[in-house]
Amino acid sequence: MNIRDVKRNVLLNPGPSTTTDSVKLAQIVPDICPREKEFAGIMAPMRDDLVKIVHGDPKEYTAVLFCGSGTICIDITLNSLLDKGKKALIVQNGSYSERACEVCRAYGLDHIELKQPIDQKPDLSVIEDTLRENHAIGYVYVTYHETGTGLLNPVKEIGALAHKYGAFLITDTTSAYALMPINVYDQNIDFCMASAQKGITGMTGLSYVIGRRDIIEKSKDFPVRSYYCNLFLQYDYFERTGEMHFTPPVQTIYAAKQALIEYFEEGEDNKWARHTRVMNAIRKGIDDLGFREALSRDVQSGLVAAVNYPDDPNWDFEKIHDYCYERGFTIYPGKMQGVGTFRLCALGAIDEDDIVKFWEVFTEAMKETGVSIPAVYK
Ligand SMILES: *Cc1c(COP(=O)(O)O)cnc(C)c1O
Repeated sequence: MNIRDVKRNVLLNPGPSTTTDSVKLAQIVPDICPREKEFAGIMAPMRDDLVKIVHGDPKEYTAVLFCGSGTICIDITLNSLLDKGKKALIVQNGSYSERACEVCRAYGLDHIELKQPIDQKPDLSVIEDTLRENHAIGYVYVTYHETGTGLLNPVKEIGALAHKYGAFLITDTTSAYALMPINVYDQNIDFCMASAQKGITGMTGLSYVIGRRDIIEKSKDFPVRSYYCNLFLQYDYFERTGEMHFTPPVQTIYAAKQALIEYFEEGEDNKWARHTRVMNAIRKGIDDLGFREALSRDVQSGLVAAVNYPDDPNWDFEKIHDYCYERGFTIYPGKMQGVGTFRLCALGAIDEDDIVKFWEVFTEAMKETGVSIPAVYK
């Protein structure tokens, strides 16, 4: 089979994202037992590279790899980093921080769910009051970029508050890492996380927690709440052997190695500029067709647009989706309770011209299904 025979789909869903042919091909390797030194030799530099993406010093920060989708990192950080007698504070303003709350409930972790509006920045003074009134908070958890709505949280400010009150900061950067510039020192981040299928534009099945070595070392004495999903145990195994505790996603790791080469070749600033170009093209189409977005643009990350369904009797998301899908473009339903939205995301190995073509197809789909142009709202 030739790689040119593999259809290129433009994925505008929030991950997995469109990959390059070279990343797809990197998975095709001679069969190898991952216990061979050759394989550990791939993971060691990969761990350092993953730390460098967020500008950490590999002596202070480390990356711990796991086999699983991105949610495994939410599970691992929350359950592994809470000491006995400590409480978790979750800033809850979207579907991914709701997921963090579900993890806390599943483990029976002592936690505070600090509910905030999903369409605007959280109120820092409420976060500070909560920290002041609850001395036992071990960590504050916030989603960096709420992929369901596109909301960008003020992580730097929340991290500063956490530190002021002796807690550390965990942030779910899954949909921001390697997409937009992040600096763990500038942004007061003690732990962040991501998955290879998102920012680095690799394949599914590999996820990583990036965080402070000293805290991980200290967490050795924290309660062990999971056998498979424990941060210290995996970290310690890596440090002693250079390997994952259990079978790694071998081919996905080869793809990630290639994806990282391409990440550093393109460079942080160029990559962010490309994603911004893509988002500008997405926004142009939204405006040209008269669509409205659920969130004001000034609170958005610039990576996800949540578009309101028009008030049009002929609007049928499934039909529009299918029309686009058959022509190589994937769009995705929204994640906002009670509000009909669909999402267009600027992740992946795509550029402006892909979006120009996408809007042509989308416009055809609207005409084909009898949806008014411009879009109508009550
Ligand atoms: C994609 C994503 C995850 C991980 O989701 P999985 O389906 O487990 O891969 C976690 N957090 C955020 C913010 C995400 O965008």
